[in-house]
Amino acid sequence: MSVQDHQLLAPLAPAPHKMLIRGATIISMDAHVGNMPKGDILIAAGAIAAIGARLEAEGAEVIDAADMIAIPGMVDTHRHSWEGQLRRINPNAATLEDYCNATHFSFAKYYRPRDIYVGNVLTALGCIDAGITTVIDNSHNSRTAAHSDAAVEALLDTGIRAVHAAGAPVSGVWDKAHWPGNLARLKAKYFTHQPGGLVTLAMMAQLEPDQWAVARELGIPIVTEFFGGAMAAELEGLHQRGLLGRDNIFNHCTCLPESGWKILRDAGVRVNVCPRSDAHYGIEDGLFAWQAALRHGIRPGLSVDNETSYSGDMFMEMRVAFSLQRVLGHHQRLHGHPHAPASTNAFRLLEAATIDGAACAGLEQRIGSLTPGKQADLVLIRTGDLNLYPVNNAIGTVVHAAERSNIDTVIIGGRLRKRDGVVVGVDQAKLHAAIDESCTHLFNAAGYQPDPFAESFAPIHHA
Ligand SMILES: [Zn+2]
Repeated sequence: MSVQDHQLLAPLAPAPHKMLIRGATIISMDAHVGNMPKGDILIAAGAIAAIGARLEAEGAEVIDAADMIAIPGMVDTHRHSWEGQLRRINPNAATLEDYCNATHFSFAKYYRPRDIYVGNVLTALGCIDAGITTVIDNSHNSRTAAHSDAAVEALLDTGIRAVHAAGAPVSGVWDKAHWPGNLARLKAKYFTHQPGGLVTLAMMAQLEPDQWAVARELGIPIVTEFFGGAMAAELEGLHQRGLLGRDNIFNHCTCLPESGWKILRDAGVRVNVCPRSDAHYGIEDGLFAWQAALRHGIRPGLSVDNETSYSGDMFMEMRVAFSLQRVLGHHQRLHGHPHAPASTNAFRLLEAATIDGAACAGLEQRIGSLTPGKQADLVLIRTGDLNLYPVNNAIGTVVHAAERSNIDTVIIGGRLRKRDGVVVGVDQAKLHAAIDESCTHLFNAAGYQPDPFAESFAPIHHA
């Protein structure tokens, strides 16, 4: 039985030829377009054709957005999508090892291709529901070629925009013969004939130049879980050998010394930071590295990382980042720190969640702002809802108050993926059944007894 036999999702409908979003409050994140209290967005052939007042568009499908705020689709720059069915299984995990106990060291070993498929589908649908239109999928459980195929097909089936970074599993027995040659196979099977499609390919690998060479041969980016305190010493050598470049994407970057940041900047390495993940799992000093990156002229994306402990939306990521940044500023000013950050603001966080994330994904020419000529990836937020009305400040409303339940419409590449508050084309009953089947299999295989009130996740020791 192929993974698609679940028929969890209706086939993607083509994007309407023309769509007109009428009368929205527009936060474009593009300095030339600016903000508009009331404006129209014309979408044609999947791209933004025009933004302005009272646009005319004969024959266009019209969306009345008079009580909505339009923002660019958000970009989650680092998510392990395959863990979708393990949501909140380990809410108090306090260390990286504790995270691994409930993922790599236990269930990951028993994932079948269909488990990867439903995990990725669930994560991608959760992203779309929350206004995340692009995700860098850090897929570090590619146990066989079939697992990788399932991961890619899930992303394609949901209509999300994604960079799929295939990565070797962390533990257990797996088909090492398919790695890293799998990447060339994946590229030929899914990515050669649809350049410019919604899903593109990357490699996930640590500081392993031999692996990186394979990715570079294929012309795909390389995603690395980079812990700056522990791994900075290796940067100098890599940089001297010319092995760091624009095609590197580093996650976390905690505790990186000044010399390390200079290398990342000089080499053009792309960076994302993890406000919740770093604090939650105590990654090095637990403080997301946004301020250090900004100080060196790098504008990182924000990333959710995992849903195994907390929620999967960028609203929370922005809010936690805002508060951490404020705490850092207050604390450092009080103690006379030379690099105390200026108070951040809501707009700056929305940039991190949109255009800066797009740059981290290498897609800033195509997405990340509402700009004529860019792909039509955008989100409409209802302003009449009880938690948002009245909108005395549009940017504050989005960054400090909006939730996924306020998202009326999500459009990706001109295609409606959420409409009237509901993700399009999902059979909830079939989706739940597939997820439940997957959980039953994984829990049984790993010998895990579900406990909805557990304070901690006891390590599962297996041969
Ligand atoms: Zn991660």
